[in-house]
Formats: sequence, C-alpha cells, structure tokens
Amino acid sequence: MKVIDIIRTSSAPILSFEITPPERGHGIEEIFRTIDVLMPFQPQFINVTYHQPQVEYVEENQVIRRLHKRKKPGTVGICTAINHKYKVEPVPHLICGGFTKYETEDALIDLQYLGIENLLALRGDPPPGQKKFIPESDGHHYAAGLVEQIARMNRGFYLEPLDNAVPTDFCVGVAGYPERHFESPNFERDMQHLKHKVECGADYIVSQMFFEYESFVRFREHARDIGITVPILPGIKPVSRLSQMEMLPSLFHISIPDRLLRRMEETRTRQEEREAGMRYMAELLERLLQADVPGVHIYTMGKALDTRRLLEYVFGTQVDEAEEKRTYVTKKPVD
Ligand code: FAD
Repeated sequence: MKVIDIIRTSSAPILSFEITPPERGHGIEEIFRTIDVLMPFQPQFINVTYHQPQVEYVEENQVIRRLHKRKKPGTVGICTAINHKYKVEPVPHLICGGFTKYETEDALIDLQYLGIENLLALRGDPPPGQKKFIPESDGHHYAAGLVEQIARMNRGFYLEPLDNAVPTDFCVGVAGYPERHFESPNFERDMQHLKHKVECGADYIVSQMFFEYESFVRFREHARDIGITVPILPGIKPVSRLSQMEMLPSLFHISIPDRLLRRMEETRTRQEEREAGMRYMAELLERLLQADVPGVHIYTMGKALDTRRLLEYVFGTQVDEAEEKRTYVTKKPVD
C-alpha cells in the first residue's frame, strides 16, 4: 500500500520507523532484532536508509587506484526481507549521489519488479571524508531532479523514448528541514526548494529530527502559507545520552534546546540520564500528536530499546523492567 494512502485512510496517527543497514559483514539478524522489538507498536511502514560509498585511493605498483567502498550496503535486500517477514511496507531511500540518471532508472525498474511501491527521494549526504556533495556527471544535483525523474516514469516516460513503456507507480516522499537545511542561505529559500520538490511530484514530506515543538509548528505553518499542501510527518529521535547532545547537532545540523540539555545534565546515574531524555521526548511526542500531525516518523539509529521506551511512555505499554535494568543500570562516570 502507498504511504500516501496509508496517511489518507488511517483514522489514528500513523507510526513509522527508520532503520539503517548493518555494516558490511554483519548479518540481517541485527535488523530483525531491532524490528522485533518495535513490531508490537504496529508500524505502518519502515524506512531503510541508503549510503553512498566512501572513496578511497590505494597505490598498487606505483599506480593510484580509486576505489568505492560502501560500508552499509543492502538497502533494497533489507526492504524485500522486511516485506516478506513482517508484511510491513518498506520504504527504501533513493539518493542522487553516486547515481547517473540512467542508473537511477535501472534502480527504479528493479524496485518496481520487486513490488516496492514507496520511496524516499533524497539528494544524499556527501560520503564520509568529503565535505561537499558532488553529483555524478550525468546525475541529479538536487532531490527535486530525482523526484521529477520518478514522476515522469510514473507517467510512462523513461529517459529514452520507448514504445508502449509501462508506467511505474511509486509514491514519493521527500525531506524537509524545520531548522533549515544547513547549506541553504536562509529558511525562506530552503522552503521554496521544498515547495519545488512537491511541485515536481512528491506526495508527502518527512521532517529532519528536531527537539523543539515550536520549530516544527513554525515549519509546518510556513509550508502551508507558501502553498505546500501535502502531509508533513514530523521526524523525531529518542535521546538517552548526554554524548548525543554533541553528536546530533554536528552530524545533522540541528539544535538542542538548553532545557533538554539541563534536564539530562542534572541526573546522577545513566538510568536517570536516559529517563530524563525519554521524558522530554515523550512530552514532545505527546504535544505533536495533539497538534493534528498525520503520524510520527522515528529515527531509531540502531537504538531499538530507546524507541520502545519512548513509545511505552507515550502509549503506556508495559515496560520489561528486568531487561531495562540489565541494559541501563550503570553508574554515570564522574567527570
Ligand atoms: P535537496 O532537497 O536537494 O536540498 C539540498 C540543498 O540544496 C538544500 O539546502 C536546498 O535548499 C538546496 N537546493 C535545492 N534545490 C536547489 C536549487 N535548485 N538551487 C540551489 N539550491 C537548491 N542521506 C543519505 O545519504 N541517505 C539517506 O538514507 C538519508 N535519509 C534521510 C532521511 C530524512 C527523513 C532526512 C531529513 C534526511 C536524510 N538524509 C539521508 C540526509 C539528506 O540526504 C541530506 O540532508 C542532504 O544534505 C540533503 O538532502 P535533500 O534530499 O533534502 O536535498
């Protein structure tokens, strides 16, 4: 089922999770363990991120060779496995980086053959070690171009004119940034680019993570003011450690409110620190659910137990105290 139809027909707010493929050499059981923990909350769809390969230069026989090494392969395989094992809609992320338009077309054909109906179309982050995003010479510079290519294929237009070409039928989501995308000179310009992605054919928007309720509301209001009418799903990330307060802003260009920081700093044990983070996020999630959002998208980032704890707070499900204690009751190191 298409995400946009799930959103339109659901009588209650929907829930989706985002997971990351394991590192090369690890098994898919890692993913299954994460999903097993979260399945009791009945997610309507599960997103799987896509990662550009890292570029490495190696010298062999006095010749420098350029190698592409992908640390986290397997997005499409994981999506098919999720669909097969859990009967939940998978949403693979498809990025511009590392793909020519022709390779994108091939990837879309594969996804269609596999029965995948949903995609999140993104430009992609620069690979590790690279500061700037560099598209392939015949690739898309921005997510809007990718959305447009998918929308054209949905109308039966492939890159080359083909007789009686079968149209694809993908539902496409795109990313939006409540605190502005870090490369954009200002919020207004970023919002116009978001609007352009929707005009190119995006069906819905998933927001980058944020920690202030007001920043999401401001973002959504601005989107509506400039004529963006598609559903906007807030994206949130459960936080459980003070170390995340430094890591998340530097990785995702988002801000952490002082209130959250203070609450976590004032704790004495690891467990209190975690509970402070969870309580803050639970309040945020509860406010969002009361603010007429179509649902919520949770960035699990390998922390299934944190996601479960957050949802237990909000939906009042039973906590497995023994497991929580085994995992989290450790003293905070004294600074
Ligand atoms: P775009 O919409 O192309 O925007 C990128 C920048 O270009 C913005 O500053 C925008 O304002 C600007 N811009 C857009 N159009 C134009 C134009 N015509 N002229 C000038 N400037 C323009 N990254 C991954 O590598 N893999 C993933 O799986 C992944 N999943 C993500 C999931 C979500 C929900 C989110 C929010 C982000 C995800 N990312 C992922 C990160 C994302 O790829 C980066 O944030 C990336 O830097 C921007 O992607 P985008 O699709 O928003 O880009």
